[in-house]
Parts: sequence; structure tokens; C-alpha cells
Amino acid sequence: MIPGRRLHVVGAGVAGLAAALAAVRAGAQVHLHEAAPQAGGRCRTVSPAGGFTHDNGTHALLGANPRALAMLARIGARGRWIEPEPAGLPVWDAANGRIARVGLHPLDWLRPGLRPEGLGLADLPRLARLALPLRDRAIGDLFAGRALLESFVEPLTVAVLNTPVEIASARRLGRALRRVVRPGGARLFVAERGLGPDLVAPALDALARGGGRIALGARLRAIDVREDRVAALVMADRTIAIGPGDGVVLALPPAEIARLLPALPVPDAYEPIVNAHYRVAGPDRPRFVGLRRALSHWALAREDHVSVTVSAAGAAVGDDPQALATRIWREVAPALRAAGVTVGEPVEQRVVKEKRATIRQAAGPDGPQPRAPFTNVRLAGDWLSRLPATIEAAVISGEDAARDLLAASAPRTVRTQRALPAESAR
Ligand SMILES: Cc1cc2nc3c(=O)[nH]c(=O)nc-3n(C[C@H](O)[C@H](O)[C@H](O)COP(=O)(O)OP(=O)(O)OC[C@H]3O[C@@H](n4cnc5c(N)ncnc54)[C@H](O)[C@@H]3O)c2cc1C
Repeated sequence: MIPGRRLHVVGAGVAGLAAALAAVRAGAQVHLHEAAPQAGGRCRTVSPAGGFTHDNGTHALLGANPRALAMLARIGARGRWIEPEPAGLPVWDAANGRIARVGLHPLDWLRPGLRPEGLGLADLPRLARLALPLRDRAIGDLFAGRALLESFVEPLTVAVLNTPVEIASARRLGRALRRVVRPGGARLFVAERGLGPDLVAPALDALARGGGRIALGARLRAIDVREDRVAALVMADRTIAIGPGDGVVLALPPAEIARLLPALPVPDAYEPIVNAHYRVAGPDRPRFVGLRRALSHWALAREDHVSVTVSAAGAAVGDDPQALATRIWREVAPALRAAGVTVGEPVEQRVVKEKRATIRQAAGPDGPQPRAPFTNVRLAGDWLSRLPATIEAAVISGEDAARDLLAASAPRTVRTQRALPAESAR
């Protein structure tokens, strides 16, 4: 695709926003099409009429996510992502009511006050095994019988891979951990006010400033394929012809790609995340508390609400929302108190179930990653990565998809599919 030509990006989740921003920066005319009435996809702020405002689910970034942090910097939002717990993550144990700070960087563990409970000498080779690019196996097998599994490895695994530890991929977690141990890689950030004001709105503003056009409520129904290229996008209300030299980034989840392009192999197993949100008077500045030996995994307390995350929530996703909200608050209220976070009693609560929160990231070969199905089309999305399916993976996939199309100067003369280089995920 030639700079100055048109790039259609379908899907305004993080991957689509990253693709659109990269293309605008490179001088393309960008048209972003999003089916939902708001942008952000799985990273969005929910503001129901008459209800309270919260994110669909708490999203954390790490210093080990340089591409996501760089995108935030470019859209002027980096300073809005703050470290809620710079002194180490307070983790509350529901079984014994104790709270302890845990460092996320192995060097932190030299200080007993930041060491995960149960860490012993016999864990070191297992941790090293995780960090090395060896044959894949389930993380649960690797740490079988070790106290560290319950105290640290399991919560870390579901936080990063959203997949039960019994099946989760050691290799995929290892790729993330090798980045976490780099300087600053273990710093944990959250959006100060929320994903809408601190990510999605600044991205849309930057896009609009760059001349990008954004259509919300614009659903792609079908794709018209002629030989090796896409000739038209059939939207719900019109058909968009794709001119010679124009390009298309489909920044969509695998299930949607499977509907549009049934012949393409894509991952078909997902894991849910359940989030419970409580309207309460909270702290002035966001606080973040981990839980273990509990249904809940972490709680983020903001000025006017608390959001609680249950990752890899297959066992809870079918439960009655009211019962879940009650059960989760019973766990979280003492955890917050123990961490010195003063909150009131909830005056309103809401449970958000994301049944397909991420793909399942189980041990075994990486799933299919068909990045360039046609000469003028690239796919993007968090599932198109060898890294864990996260914001970082979504940003990398979106930026790389746009750059790859922009680099292909005469797509109509290209007859072979060009595989995209996988992002550095050693
Ligand atoms: C509750 C929860 C908590 C999470 N926590 C974290 C975290 O702490 N840290 C982290 O890094 N990641 C986290 N993630 C993962 C992160 O949200 C995703 O990796 C990321 O948002 C994926 O972005 P995406 O653009 O690939 O996909 P999506 O966000 O799914 O974007 C796809 C977009 O395409 C749109 N679309 C679908 N079909 C069509 C169509 N036919 N036409 C037009 N548009 C269409 C959708 O509406 C959507 O906006 C979490 C996810 C969830 C659900």
C-alpha cells in the first residue's frame, strides 16, 4: 500500500486503534469501522444510563509492555497510567486473613518483606525453567507439590494468561517473564481514571487530529474476495469498494474472523473473566490489592468504586450475578481493610461476564496465526501473538499489520502471500 492511499481498519479495540494510529502517522488516509456504539472493544469504560461508571474489567500494564506504553506516550496519555502500589503488591490470603507485600521482580525477593510465601531453593530451577525457551509444558506440572504454586505461580499465571494453571503454557508465560525481569519491567500501572478517559478517548482524539475518520455502529457483515485480494467490505448499511493500492486491517477476534472467512484456521477455545463492580466511597488515589486462596484475584479501589477481577473464571461464569457479587464482596472487603484501603458499603453493584475474555493459552503449539490472508489484507488482534493475549500483544499486532500493508507498495502485482515476521518474542 502506498502512503496517502486509504487504509480501512475494521474493529476499534486496542489492536484496531494501534493500527489506525500507526497508519495515520505514516501518512495514510484512515477509515476506522467499529460495530459497537463505542470504541475500545474489551478495553472499555461502561456508563449505563442512571448507573455508575466503571471499566468492563480492570486492566493493568507492566513496564514489560513497551509498545503499549509507547502508544500511550504518543497519544499524550502515558502520564495518566500510574503505579498504584510502587512499594510492592499487597496480597491478602483469604485462608488465614494475613496480608503481605510481594515484589513482582525476582531481585525484590532478596528482601524477605517482598518475597512470595513458600519460595524455597527447590523453586529456583523451576523458575529458571519457566524463563528459558524450552519444550512447552503445563505450568501446574512444573510446580506440582510446591507451596509457591498456590502462593505466587497460580495467581501470576491467571493474571497473565487467563488460563487455569493446570493447563496454562509455561512457554508463553516465560516469554512474558523474560520481559518482566528487564529493568523496570515489573512496574505495574493502571489507568488513573479508567480505560475510556485514559486510553480510548486520547487514541480517538489523536486519530481525529491526524485526519482519521471513525464510524461507530458500523458492522462488517461480509467480505467480497476476488482472487487473492479483498474487493469490497459489505457493511451493515453500505458496501465499500476497496481500490487498487488500498488496504484493509481486520482487527477482530478469532470468532469473528471465523464467521467472515470460514476457511481460515483460527483459535477456537476461550477463557472467561468475571468482574464485579461496587459503587462505594473509596480512596483518593487508586489502590490495587491481590487476593489468594479466594475466588477473586485482584481488586482495584478508585475514588467512587471498587472493581474486582476473577480470571480464568470457568467455574464461576455460570453463577447467578447477585450471588457472585455478594460472595466476592465478602472476600474483598476484609482484604481492602487489611491493606489499609478505606471503603464504604456498596450502594450499587454490577457483575460483568466476559465469556470470551481471551483465547485459551494452553501448553502445546501456538495456535494458528493467519496474519496475511490476502495481498491487501492483514489481520490484527491480541490472539495474533506468541506473547500472552494482552494489550501489549494487541498493540504490536495492530502496528505491525498497518506497517506491513504500508510497506507493500503495489499489492495488485503481488501474487504470493507474504508471512508477517512474528514480533520479537524470544
Ligand atoms: C475483563 C478483562 C480484563 C483484562 N485484563 C487485562 C489486563 O489487565 N492487561 C492486559 O494487558 N490485557 C487484559 N485483557 C486483555 C485485553 O483486554 C485484550 O487483549 C485487548 O483488549 C484485545 O484487543 P483487540 O483489539 O485485539 O480485540 P477487541 O478488544 O475484542 O477488539 C475487537 C473490536 O472489533 C469489533 N468488532 C467485532 N466484530 C466486528 C465487525 N463485524 N465489524 C466491525 N467491528 C467489529 C468489536 O466490537 C471490538 O471493538 C483483559 C481482557 C478482559 C476482557
